[in-house]
Amino acid sequence: MKNKIKPLAFSGKWDLDPAPESTDHISIKDQYGLFINGKFKNPSSGNYFPSINPATEEKLSMIAEANDKDVNDAVSAARKAYNGAWSKMTAKERGKYIYRIARLIQEKSRELAVVESLDGGKPIRESRDVDVPITAAHFFYYAGWTDKLKYAFPNRNPESVGVAGQVIPWNFPLMMAAWKIAPALATGNTVVLKPAETTSLTAIKLAEIIQEADLPAGVVNIITGAGATGAGIVNHPDIDKIAFTGSTGVGKIIMKAIAGTNKKSTMELGGKAANIIFEDAPLDQAVEGVINGIYFNQGHVCCAGSRLFVQESVYELVLRKLKDRIQSLILGNPLDKNTDIGAINSKEQLATINKYLKIGQKEGAEMFQLDCSIPKKGFWCAPTLFTNVSQSHVIAKEEIFGPVLAIQTFRTIDEVITKANNTPFGLSAGVWTDKGSKIFNLTSQMRAGVVWANTYNKFDPTSPFGGYKESGHGREGGLHGLTPYLNF
Ligand code: NAD
Repeated sequence: MKNKIKPLAFSGKWDLDPAPESTDHISIKDQYGLFINGKFKNPSSGNYFPSINPATEEKLSMIAEANDKDVNDAVSAARKAYNGAWSKMTAKERGKYIYRIARLIQEKSRELAVVESLDGGKPIRESRDVDVPITAAHFFYYAGWTDKLKYAFPNRNPESVGVAGQVIPWNFPLMMAAWKIAPALATGNTVVLKPAETTSLTAIKLAEIIQEADLPAGVVNIITGAGATGAGIVNHPDIDKIAFTGSTGVGKIIMKAIAGTNKKSTMELGGKAANIIFEDAPLDQAVEGVINGIYFNQGHVCCAGSRLFVQESVYELVLRKLKDRIQSLILGNPLDKNTDIGAINSKEQLATINKYLKIGQKEGAEMFQLDCSIPKKGFWCAPTLFTNVSQSHVIAKEEIFGPVLAIQTFRTIDEVITKANNTPFGLSAGVWTDKGSKIFNLTSQMRAGVVWANTYNKFDPTSPFGGYKESGHGREGGLHGLTPYLNF
């Protein structure tokens, strides 16, 4: 049954010469400390853990592990800065610092993109064209709001919340740091942020930028470590607001931990997005959107379109086009500018994805994968699609967080809305059709925070992003992204 459908006329890859991005301009130290009160310091425990390049399994650097004492130091520094320099400064002055950070990110964009790809495994094309520009854009956008909060919320007297504790995941390390830090600073708060343990390097580079921008000491503190460090931040009594992005499982633990406290919260959690192709859609464009939605960035995207619903009348054609396009994808060195599919972020995540590939086949779904050679070192998963999938299949229900697509068919609009909404998640969705009326009908009935129409995975700092149901609560981005950092 595998490869039953004949490929279209063009199949296979262009034979491209390697085009690796240079690493000559990159400096990564052997060891990094914790950024507390404007300075890098050694962790109290003296413990460090390695950060690995997932494409080669080589050690890039040793990262400090913050314990409760370090968390306490970071929170105290943030509180002192909040009560001191930061709140005494005019909003306009605060804005200047945020603009400065944005400009420094742009100046160092090449370095940041390369470090992001080295540490996280994502193709340089993604980090260079998506992660870093969006990171800078977030700081620029929120810098603009700093002295306009009274206009943003007329007659509501917006006031900063205090010290924000922020914990982020590994899939968009720098971008997630920007989504957290920029609105917090614009609204006059101070910050303690923890990146994920497998991708600390660009957050540390951001700390260096913040130092270079001469931000008053303690306004932003960046501490590294694993779950225990995150829990230390969450449970610290002098934190006023928790901003968390990560898995639904950890989100639930955090919500339990802060229940009954005065801490405000935003939770940006997991997803299992539906991408819906109607028979009247521009099919080539839709196929490209599906590829972009699930395979680029190795499916390490909370809003990845991991469930594809295709109208029955065009199913065979869409499947043929999809398989043909998959076979043209280039998997390999994340630093090569031609690479479409980079490395899986960690050994653990690869094991999780492989577990789901086995479950999918065991449940009777039919698996198709990019036919390619897998590098001997590093963590890799070929782009995969499953057909013969039903609503009850585990691969159609659970977040895999890898380049794995589960395809189902539908006949009517009502059927696909029911199927697409039949999930505990509600982060994002996509719809492909020529008809505007169908788009409006669907977008109003889909229980998802973001619905893209005839496009996918498009981000802009001016538009809010966030989920329904087990995908979390609160919004980041846009005017909505300011509110969680304000009291009225
Ligand atoms: P994760 O939940 O395992 O870890 C996220 C962060 O939480 C890490 O920094 C981790 O060290 C920390 N952490 C772990 N245990 C903790 C605890 N008990 N208390 C406090 N902090 C703790 O998630 P991940 O594997 O890093 O990221 C993948 C998940 O993130 C996926 O589910 C994905 O959908 C989600 N995500 C959501 C969005 C969104 O905007 N909704 C964006 C990106 C990623």
